[in-house]
Amino acid sequence: PLALLNDPSLLKTDALIDGQWVKGAARFDVNDPATGLKLADVPNLGAADAEYAINAANAAWPAWRAKTGKQRHAILLKWFELLMANQEDLGRIMTAEQGKPFAEAKGEVSYAASFVEWFAEEAKRINGEALPQFDNNRRLLVLKQSVGVCAAITPWNFPLAMITRKVAPALAAGCPVVIKPAELTPLTALAAAELAVRAGIPAGVLNLLTADSENSIAIGKVLCASDIVRHISFTGSTEVGRILMAQSAPTVKKMSLELGGNAPFIVFNDADIDSAVEGAIASKYRNAGQTCVCANRLYVQDGVYEQFIEKFSAKVKSLKVGNGFDEGVVQGPLIEPAAIAKVQKHLDDALAKGARITAGGEKMEGQFFQPTVVADATPDMLCAREETFGPFAPVFRFKEEQEAIDAANNTEFGLASYFYSRDVGRIFRVAEALEYGMVGINAGVIATEHVPFGGVKQSGLGREGSHHGIDDYVELKYLCLGDI
Ligand code: ADP
Repeated sequence: PLALLNDPSLLKTDALIDGQWVKGAARFDVNDPATGLKLADVPNLGAADAEYAINAANAAWPAWRAKTGKQRHAILLKWFELLMANQEDLGRIMTAEQGKPFAEAKGEVSYAASFVEWFAEEAKRINGEALPQFDNNRRLLVLKQSVGVCAAITPWNFPLAMITRKVAPALAAGCPVVIKPAELTPLTALAAAELAVRAGIPAGVLNLLTADSENSIAIGKVLCASDIVRHISFTGSTEVGRILMAQSAPTVKKMSLELGGNAPFIVFNDADIDSAVEGAIASKYRNAGQTCVCANRLYVQDGVYEQFIEKFSAKVKSLKVGNGFDEGVVQGPLIEPAAIAKVQKHLDDALAKGARITAGGEKMEGQFFQPTVVADATPDMLCAREETFGPFAPVFRFKEEQEAIDAANNTEFGLASYFYSRDVGRIFRVAEALEYGMVGINAGVIATEHVPFGGVKQSGLGREGSHHGIDDYVELKYLCLGDI
């Protein structure tokens, strides 16, 4: 699939440190999850390379932070324009290494680029404050200054957007970055880095280290232990988030963590059922169910339960599964065999505990799994507690509003939640009662660049996107000017 790139020079297979493309002593393969075939190999960098990149970033910091917001704006805007001008190629690279349907991949490129555009604009608006004095001889000011070298460790499910959502606010604020993309999807990240170079982001300001899973752990340790790295932003599993947090305790690092979810999707008796079905499809099966905000548990009220199951299952059966480059495909492969195994485990467990299949239910040839729905799910099933991260939708039945709220909140996670209702009183009651960072009300897809994305409880720390998204990358400095 990569032979068809409009601009073949976007297929970078070396890492970027201090403005230099680095081959690395060892390499590892990047494969296409739809075919299992090798696409390319990239450097398998390690701890010493991470040290080198951190130092390069630190050396680049003074000149980068000294630029005016407007100068950083201009460079970021150029990067945004290049990302959009190369949307097709970036989408092609993404589908090849990640598997999501080509249309969805191009959609992610535009979503990813929107963060660069948004934070390019915000670069001009990092305003300080002048506070009222407490005696007339003084003046009190607050400056916002860049925190310093930032590290970004990103996952494979959104190979581009998870990078730009962290890197764009860091750069806008005047911070240099060291990026460690997921080992399964480094090619999209490298193409974005190439465009960053073309946009004029100076050497050392954006560094990108590729590494396999073992070396990623070693690099993670260096990033956490470094005194120079002031902030770590991570998107991925809660398990790895905890490790990074523990490793960062000795250096008391700032952290932004966007971790696992276990999103409830509640349909009340008064919902518009067709709209709820549409929303559930979009929320559950996007990216083959491999997003942290995907509906994981569907709770449907008694009065509309059978109707919802019937309409939802019929729609799910019509979803076309296949290679993301094939016409009409809306669900691609899962990222790796372990992902298939997890879906199978949740399905087997649910069936053993009394669930019934109403759509799909079969593993297919290769790394594909049929979009699946099971009815009569119960709280003792694994799928009630764990994030499936695959195309499997368990539907639970409930009677009372409070019962749905309690079930929805009965998890250590608190990222996204969704519910469908047309009763305005219920809408506010339920929205306020859900212990989640985000609530979709009559909406199954809610992310965009100008809203604060993030979770409560063990789903993470901080918010990405929106005007709040820059807060993690600036320090407040209080100036007390006396004797005037
Ligand atoms: P997922 O479950 O989405 O694959 P992970 O949390 O395993 O998410 O991985 C997300 C990112 O974290 C990847 O870039 C991966 O290389 C990196 N990673 C995994 N384990 C560690 C670790 N112990 N230290 C640093 N980075 C890690």
